[in-house]
Amino acid sequence: MTDSSQHPIAYDVDTDGICVLTIDLPGHTMNVMGAELSGYFKARVEQAAADPAVKGVVVTSGKSSFLAGADLKEIGRGMDWGDRSKGEIAEAVMSFSLDLRRLETCGKPFACAINGTALGAGFEIALACHYRVVADDPKILLGLPEANVGLLAGGGGTQRVIRLIGIQAGAPLLLQGKMISPQAALGFKLVDEVVPVAELVPAAKRWLLTRPSSIRSWDVKGFKLPGGGSSLDADFRNFFAISNSMIRANGFGNYPAPEITSCAIYEGAQLPMDLALRVEVKYFVELVTGPVSAALIRTMFVNKGKADSLHSRPKDVAKVKYTKIAVIGAGTMGAGIAFAAAKAGIEVVLIDRELAAAEKGKAYAETRLKRDIDKGRSTQEKADKILARIQPAVGYEGIAGVQLAIETVFEDRGVKGQVLPNVEEMLTDGAILASNTSAMPITGLAEFTRDPAKFIGMHFFSPAERMPLVELIRGRDTSDETWAKALDFVAAIRKTPITVNDSPGFFTSRFIGSFVEESFNMINAGVKPALVENAARMVGMPMGPMTISDLMGLDVGYHAGMQMAKDRGDANPKIGISGALYRDFGRTGVKSGKGFYDYGPDGDKRLWPGLKDLLPAEAPAVDVEEAKTRILYAQLAEGARCFAEGVLVDVIDGDLGATLGVGFPAYLGGPFMAMDTIGLEKVTAECDRLAGLYGKMFEIPQLLRDMAATGQTFHGDNAIVSPGARRAA
Ligand code: NAD
Repeated sequence: MTDSSQHPIAYDVDTDGICVLTIDLPGHTMNVMGAELSGYFKARVEQAAADPAVKGVVVTSGKSSFLAGADLKEIGRGMDWGDRSKGEIAEAVMSFSLDLRRLETCGKPFACAINGTALGAGFEIALACHYRVVADDPKILLGLPEANVGLLAGGGGTQRVIRLIGIQAGAPLLLQGKMISPQAALGFKLVDEVVPVAELVPAAKRWLLTRPSSIRSWDVKGFKLPGGGSSLDADFRNFFAISNSMIRANGFGNYPAPEITSCAIYEGAQLPMDLALRVEVKYFVELVTGPVSAALIRTMFVNKGKADSLHSRPKDVAKVKYTKIAVIGAGTMGAGIAFAAAKAGIEVVLIDRELAAAEKGKAYAETRLKRDIDKGRSTQEKADKILARIQPAVGYEGIAGVQLAIETVFEDRGVKGQVLPNVEEMLTDGAILASNTSAMPITGLAEFTRDPAKFIGMHFFSPAERMPLVELIRGRDTSDETWAKALDFVAAIRKTPITVNDSPGFFTSRFIGSFVEESFNMINAGVKPALVENAARMVGMPMGPMTISDLMGLDVGYHAGMQMAKDRGDANPKIGISGALYRDFGRTGVKSGKGFYDYGPDGDKRLWPGLKDLLPAEAPAVDVEEAKTRILYAQLAEGARCFAEGVLVDVIDGDLGATLGVGFPAYLGGPFMAMDTIGLEKVTAECDRLAGLYGKMFEIPQLLRDMAATGQTFHGDNAIVSPGARRAA
């Protein structure tokens, strides 16, 4: 019998005495573990344990997934811990772990029938059960990905994984937050059976009726961890020696979760289960009360979720379902955008000046798809369908009937000025026009259109099919309707949109410019290039400034710099070492194998030995810590200036734009989250110190000083209204 259709966990006992607990959280598309559900779960476990009619229990889900993990929104909301001590927080967190321990030790056997994705708390429930059967569907993901949001699995996950499969196999899964398929989980022996979905619950029941053991191996005296679990074992010690140095080398100490998870594993492995669970919770609290998990959860999960749900989209504009677009310019960006749209099921007319160029753009998608097929990530049939959606063309005729046209021709006002009116001419009713310019103000480009209300900036990042962000730029006359339609397109291709006000470089190009510029300020002044490159990586930038410049092309950077100098009437601009490499030595970067680095045939690279001859003889006294500070604070100051000048409508867009678009370190949660965490008074004082020593890159707006003086912040209860919001209104 099912006692209540409203209850989030149905309780059905069959004639064999097998109780099926079906988790189905009302009002949610997925089951997530929050305070409320965990209360119901505890009660159902107790009920089954006490019910004399019940011999064994199957835990399954009524949704298409099993349970997607902890409710991160709830964790994100609760992260202002106020006056609560760590001990009090630990007791609160411990209760779910104790519930699972109770399930494990209550004397009745539990089998988990995993019908869909089971992550985090979902997989921890499965691990606590005495038997695990999973549906044979390769799309199902299993695992404990807590490290990805700066946490560890605090419901017994770390301790059960290592007790089931040992440290050598289990620790990498935990430290990297890996998610694996049912077959892979079977290979690891993390699950016991993989069966067709229809046989899932019957298989779980069968086990309960035939081998109903309810005692875990680790609760039997004399238990030894597979592969050894004592600090007296050489293999055990060696594992941590190597693993800890790898964690340091990859994360530079910026991401505490892998290091702290390692501690939980190391200590927990040597303790009886009940104590090990307490140690695990102690370390979980260490992470959950720290700034990194708060930043990751709030920016990369809660705020990204808001942006993905188009939270600010005007409601009165009908939603557009995209079926056909045009992309004009089939180069690097056009080819990537066409591929992204075709993958999302949208037809694309891909136009260039010559058919061969348009076909080359389509061939890009073909090469990428072939790689996916070779790696087993796609099939020929799927690839053929995607490719059939891309139609290479010359001339503008094919644009008639599309819902959106995106211009991706050269970054040259003259060329864009020629192309935009021709494209607009062909657009039919309701269609909108976008430019992928990386820096030209949209209001200026709108002068080439007849109807600027239908024109918007749509800034993609390279490679466009993979980068998760699109920056939308509203020109002075861009209408709400056009903006709403542009948002719908970004959602249709499954990317995260941010929206900013118009200005040169918008937000992201300007923001990344501050990192590159300050890095080269140091190199041009004689700070060792390798020190600056490494300092950037240590701050958490995915690439150093020399690697980025080589990738973008030193010729491109040189010409862009010359154009900017010309625009501001500077007849004699300084070109710096980066410009000299191109102008005086013809070094263009990765494309010619010669830039700051010499590139070998196998992708190996070494700093060009001639570089040292271009550096000033005297090196300034800048050590690696100061270089790191300059790299970070140049970006914070730029963020503050963009905010004060009204470029950002919402700081959330600034944090997402910086982290998802241009490599600002995720552990800081974006520049605005970082400034709040450091404290605005401290940021102001540090910027003033740096401005005194190194100049204008660290000059901050009066607004930041006012905020620091009055206790206002960018996020949270004391958040200031963005000047950009007033400008957009
Ligand atoms: P690209 O040089 O690789 O491609 C430009 C393409 O436009 C070429 O195939 C060219 O033949 C075509 N083209 C030129 N004039 C044309 C015309 N009149 N009609 C049709 N096609 C024409 O350049 P890209 O790197 O793809 O950049 C395109 C735009 O995207 C630029 O505005 C650039 O600033 C911007 N952007 C580039 C990047 C990047 O990382 N490359 C990132 C974001 C934005």
